[in-house]
Amino acid sequence: MEMSASLAAYEAIVGSSVVRQLRNLGEKLSGVRVVHVNSTREGGGVAEILEWMIPLMRDLGLDASWEVIHGSPRFFEITKEIHNGLQGKSVDLQKKDWRYYQDENEKNAERLRPLLEEADFVIIHDPQPAGLLKLCPNRKGKWIWRAHIDISRPFRPVWKVLRTFVDKYDASIFSMAEFAQPLPNSQFLIPPSIDPLSEKNRDLDPADLESARAEYGIDPNRPTVVQISRFDRFKDPIGVIQACRLVRKVAPVQLVLAGGGATDDPEGKAVLEDVIEAAEGSPDIHVLLLPPDAHKTINALQRLADIVLQKSTREGFGLTVTEGLWKGKPVIGGDVGGIRIQVTNYQTGFLVSTPEGAAHRIRYLLHHRERMKEMGKAGREFVRENFLLTRNLRDYLILMLAIRSGREDRIIYM
Ligand code: UDP
Repeated sequence: MEMSASLAAYEAIVGSSVVRQLRNLGEKLSGVRVVHVNSTREGGGVAEILEWMIPLMRDLGLDASWEVIHGSPRFFEITKEIHNGLQGKSVDLQKKDWRYYQDENEKNAERLRPLLEEADFVIIHDPQPAGLLKLCPNRKGKWIWRAHIDISRPFRPVWKVLRTFVDKYDASIFSMAEFAQPLPNSQFLIPPSIDPLSEKNRDLDPADLESARAEYGIDPNRPTVVQISRFDRFKDPIGVIQACRLVRKVAPVQLVLAGGGATDDPEGKAVLEDVIEAAEGSPDIHVLLLPPDAHKTINALQRLADIVLQKSTREGFGLTVTEGLWKGKPVIGGDVGGIRIQVTNYQTGFLVSTPEGAAHRIRYLLHHRERMKEMGKAGREFVRENFLLTRNLRDYLILMLAIRSGREDRIIYM
């Protein structure tokens, strides 16, 4: 087997036994052809994960590749509505929209069919490319649908149709038990993870922090609260602004609300406009529109923060929470989805449901600096144990071995 130099680089962070186990598992899957398919090369959590997953799978000897489906603006408007519907919003999707959805999938199938039908494993991420399976009738391998979003309480009409696409898969993966759905296939739980060596998460020089501070006009003498996320209503940027305005009455806090769009998310512009309006007249609220490759900037902003916020009202997992915890920051997050399995109340941060709740917790932390440090430390260790890429990779390898064994239907929990 080819030795993987890059995997070795993680030993210092996770220990050698973890890396050895990955190599052992990789040997059992040597040469296996795995194709991941999603709908954007950059922006959002899924692209973030595939970015490291493909090279590391290759390092382990698997023949892994990553394909991105293309689509017209209308396609992405429809899939955004599907996404919103799955997260519980009542949306109006007509038969003709679903037909359009599948026609666009067909265009992609024409291009990808030879590769997908030959692959040993095809892992389809999220709803956008889910239609591909029906369009590859001569598939040889096992197909897995990987849902990254919070589908604990979907808007039924949307789930009813999407289900007819995803129930044909051999298995599905959810980030949390609460998202599992009545499906005829085997369902696995795999929480996502971050790459501690990526530009987004690696240690930075103090000079990098200083230049980000200067570039974005962040005052070193006042506490800083940061939320990084796409401008998406479920991330509740307006609620974040409200919370900071409440804190502002009693403490000189400054807020950085930074994010960009994803190429598969057409709604961002309208949300950004609302955010700018809500922030108007407050020089302490920095709204930053970031380009898709602003990884180092995000890293620096998270490190400059005293407190990281992720006040989502729905959240599949919330990689920004993982990123904040890994940087040793207490995280105040919405009490929803994957944020709940990352933030332990009073230990690594706080779970909140309202702007008032968030404001209350920000004030508490600003008055208890020593708690902030303790929480940050606990958060970093929690991520090291549970949410680094090595754990995620191991889960995928074990899943493939389980499915290849043909006994996956007997596995109750993984
Ligand atoms: N992110 C980014 N640029 C942005 C906003 C977010 O690179 O403008 C990153 C963020 O740091 C995180 C990921 O995209 O790694 C977002 O993942 P998350 O699970 O938090 O939310 P999603 O966007 O997938 O709903």
